[in-house]
Amino acid sequence: MNGGSFVKKGLLIVVSGASGTGKGTVLNALLEKNADISYSVSATTRKPRPGEKNGVNYHFMTREEFEGLIEKDGFLEWAKVYDNYYGTPLAKIEEKRAAGVDVLLEIDTQGALKVMDKCPDGVFVFLLPPSMEELKRRIKGRGTENEDELNKRLASAAQEIAVGKKYRYAVVNDEVEKAVLRLEAIITAEHCKINERDKEEIFAEYEV
Ligand code: ADP
Ligand code: 5GP
Repeated sequence: MNGGSFVKKGLLIVVSGASGTGKGTVLNALLEKNADISYSVSATTRKPRPGEKNGVNYHFMTREEFEGLIEKDGFLEWAKVYDNYYGTPLAKIEEKRAAGVDVLLEIDTQGALKVMDKCPDGVFVFLLPPSMEELKRRIKGRGTENEDELNKRLASAAQEIAVGKKYRYAVVNDEVEKAVLRLEAIITAEHCKINERDKEEIFAEYEV
């Protein structure tokens, strides 16, 4: 299927999950295996962590730069998370999807709820830790937050996870490879879905 000349619109894949669940780890592994997925690099006012690169992990910005982009309607969505701004730059998302490229967003639940309103055709996936105990271990083990930041993230984890009920899919990150396989299965199923927009083109070549 999809061998015809028409281009099926790329998916908008939105992944959220409490801090420390393993979103970065799992999505990096997914992107390494699937070079055709385009990762949407968010903008943020938070400081880079060791090893993070500007333009790769995030577009690191000053508060003034970020607020300037908000004024110019430059974001699909933005939210304030743990005292910093985070946002999805609008540029190129729709062009990529129109060209058949799948676009992946890793954003918090506030931002995802806004995208659910704006893009109801998005594929909304919530990543879950195997347990709350394991979540605490992972955040502490990562060792990138100070005590104050760590406590903020732990306190908001349960609230974040409750919003997961609004998503279409729930994926448990017990083992990275298994979580990646689950995400790939979701993406494959979504590619095979018959939607109103593409229905006629999918069947056209069979003259039915
Ligand atoms: P997030 O992006 O959701 O905040 P990270 O990807 O930074 O989470 O992962 C948090 C910590 O948990 C990291 O130290 C990472 O190596 C570890 N981790 C991620 N996935 C797993 C897993 N499946 N099993 C064990 N540890 C994991
Ligand atoms: P971190 O500081 O750990 O990289 O990210 C903190 C939180 O911000 C995570 O929940 C992450 O999903 C979220 N986040 C990252 N980029 C964006 C974005 O563009 N928009 C929104 N709303 N949240 C984001």
